[in-house]
Amino acid sequence: MLEPYAIVTARNVIASMWREKDRQRRNQHRVVDLRPPTAPDEELLAGEERTAIAEALARLGDRERRTLLAHEVAGQDTRSLAVELGSSAGAVAAQLNRTRARLRVEYLLALEQAEPPGDRCRAVLLAISGGDRRRQREVDAARHLLECDLCARLSQPLMERGQQREEETRIPIRVDADIVTARQTVRELAARMGFVGTDLTLIATAVSEVTRNIVRFAGSGEVTVEAVAEPRAGLSVVARDTGPGIADIEQALTDGYSTYHGLGLGLPGARRLMDEFAVISQTGRGTTVTMTKWRQEG
Ligand SMILES: [Zn+2]
Repeated sequence: MLEPYAIVTARNVIASMWREKDRQRRNQHRVVDLRPPTAPDEELLAGEERTAIAEALARLGDRERRTLLAHEVAGQDTRSLAVELGSSAGAVAAQLNRTRARLRVEYLLALEQAEPPGDRCRAVLLAISGGDRRRQREVDAARHLLECDLCARLSQPLMERGQQREEETRIPIRVDADIVTARQTVRELAARMGFVGTDLTLIATAVSEVTRNIVRFAGSGEVTVEAVAEPRAGLSVVARDTGPGIADIEQALTDGYSTYHGLGLGLPGARRLMDEFAVISQTGRGTTVTMTKWRQEG
C-alpha cells in the first residue's frame, strides 16, 4: 500500500520542517526522486528516513492515512473528499492539518526510535506540530517542555516549521485568468529572488504551460511556488491537479507530443525550460508536476 510516490509525498509533507535548520537535507528530500545519493552515508540516511516515514504513515488511522494520501499524492481536493466522507470541505481541511501534524510527530518519534516517556508527550507534541496555541495552553505545553527532555528536543524542528510556511505561495487554478495570475505571481517572486532576463521568461512560460494543462484537462488544481536554497538558490514550482491523470508519462514528455494539438509547448516544453522536472500521475486521480529553476550565479 505504501507505494514509492506515497513515501516521496509524505516525505515532502514532513520535510517542510527543516527549512532553516537543515536546508541541505531538506533539499535532498525535495529532489529525492531526481538525483541519486552521492555518498554511502546519504544512502544510509535515506534508508532510515524511508523506514521512519513508512512507520509514521502506518501509525495513522486507516481513514486518516487514506484521506491524506488522496489529497497529497493524488491531489484530490477537500471538496470532493468531503462528499466521499460525508463531511464538509472545512472539516476535511482541518482534519488534514491534524493528520499532517500527527505525521510529523510520529515521524520524529520513529526516527528517534523512542516511545515518549510521559502520557502527555504526544498531546504536547501534536499541539506544537499543529501550531495550535489554544491547545498548547490546554495541555500546558510550555511547562512540559521544561520537564521533558525528549519533547524539548523534538519540539525544535516542529516549532521552526511553524514560522516558515509563509514562504510558500499558493495559487488556485480553475479558469484561464488563473493562468495569467500564476504566471505573474511566479515571475514577480523570481524577480525578487534575483532571477533576471531570459530566465524570468523561461520560468513564466513553463508555469503557463503546466497551468494551461490544468485548466484544459483537469478543471481544477493549484500551483505552489517557493524559494529553495540548496544545493543553490532556486525557485521550485509544484503544479497539482485532480484531473484524469496521464496514462503514459513517457509519451506525454516526448517532444512534439502535445495533448492540445499544436497549441503551446506542453509538458516537454516546460521540461526544457526548467532545470529539474518530475511528473507523478495516477490515472483517474490526478497529476503533480514538480519543477525547479536554479539561479545563475554572478
Ligand atoms: Zn514529553
